[in-house]
Amino acid sequence: MNKSIAEIKKEYSELYQYLAPSYASIGLAKDLWGVWERDGVAPPDLDSIVSNTLSFEDGFFQDIVQVASKVYGQKLHIDYCPFILDDYKMCACTASDGYLVIIDETFFKMLFSMTNILMFEVNNLIEEDEEELFSDLIRNIINEFVEATPFKPFNRHSDKELSQLYERSYEISEFGVFLFQSFKIFILAHEISHHILQHTQGLTERHFSQSNNYVSIVIDKRSYESEFEADLLAYEIFRATMNTVDGSLKYAACIYRFEFAPLYLFDIFDKIDRYREEKDNRKIQYISHPSPNDRKKNLLNRFKISDTSILYDNLKCALDSYVR
Ligand SMILES: [Zn+2]
Repeated sequence: MNKSIAEIKKEYSELYQYLAPSYASIGLAKDLWGVWERDGVAPPDLDSIVSNTLSFEDGFFQDIVQVASKVYGQKLHIDYCPFILDDYKMCACTASDGYLVIIDETFFKMLFSMTNILMFEVNNLIEEDEEELFSDLIRNIINEFVEATPFKPFNRHSDKELSQLYERSYEISEFGVFLFQSFKIFILAHEISHHILQHTQGLTERHFSQSNNYVSIVIDKRSYESEFEADLLAYEIFRATMNTVDGSLKYAACIYRFEFAPLYLFDIFDKIDRYREEKDNRKIQYISHPSPNDRKKNLLNRFKISDTSILYDNLKCALDSYVR
C-alpha cells in the first residue's frame, strides 16, 4: 500500500538533511545586500531569511500546480520534497493522498550558477581574459553536480567568485534569475504532467551508495515514450504560466517571456551528458530516457517556438564556448 505524502516526506528528511539554505550561503547573500544597502539599513535577520526562502519555494511550486490545475481542469493535490538525486532526471512518487515531486536540489543549484554565468557572458560583463576562469568554474560546478549524492552535497566552492560576478550588475543577475525560473517552471511542469497523464507504471527503486553509505528510495516507474508526452503537456503549462498576467501568481509570475527556455534547457542537458561521457569514457545509451536532442525536436515539432532569437543564439554560443 502507498504511503501518504507526509510519511514519504518524513522518510526523505531522515535520509537527507533538507531544504534550508545554509547559513554560509545566506551570509554571502547578506554581503551582497550590504553593497546595495550601505546607507545604514539594518542587516536582515537570518532566521527570517531562511523562512522567507522556504515560503518562496513553496509558493513557487504551488503557483505551478495552480496553473497546471487550470490547464487540467481539476484541482491537483501535489507537494514537493527536495533531495539530492544523481542526475538531472527528476522523479516523483505517487502517494496514497496525492503526488510528491522529488526536487533535485543539487541540480537546481548547478543550473542557477550556470545560467547566471552564461547570462553575464552574453551581456558582455565577463572580460575576454576572464573567460578561461569562468569556463573552468562552470566545468567545476558541473563536476560537483555529477559527483553529488545524498552523502556528498554540493560544496559551493564557487560561491565567492559567483557573488563577485553578480555584484557587477544587479539587473543582469535578475535577468539570469528569471531565465533560471523559466527552466524551473518547465521542469516542475514536466513532473506534474506525468501525474496528470497517469504515466505511473508501478514503483521502482533508485539506489545511492558511497563508501559504506547506502540508501534507496522508491519512485514511480515510467516508460520512454511517456517522456515525450510529459514534455508536450509541460510546455503547455509553461506557456500558460507565462501568459498568466492577472496577478494570481505571486511567486512564479514571468516578467520576461523566455519562450525558448525549455529548448535551451535541453541544450544544457546535452552538454551535461557529453561531459559525463568524457568523464566516464563511455557512451550514454538512451534506453530509459530519450536523448535531450530528441526531446528538443519533439517540442519543436509540436509547438511554434521561436528558436532564432538573438538572446537564444548568443546563449547557445556561450554554452558551446564555456562547456567544451
Ligand atoms: Zn519525465
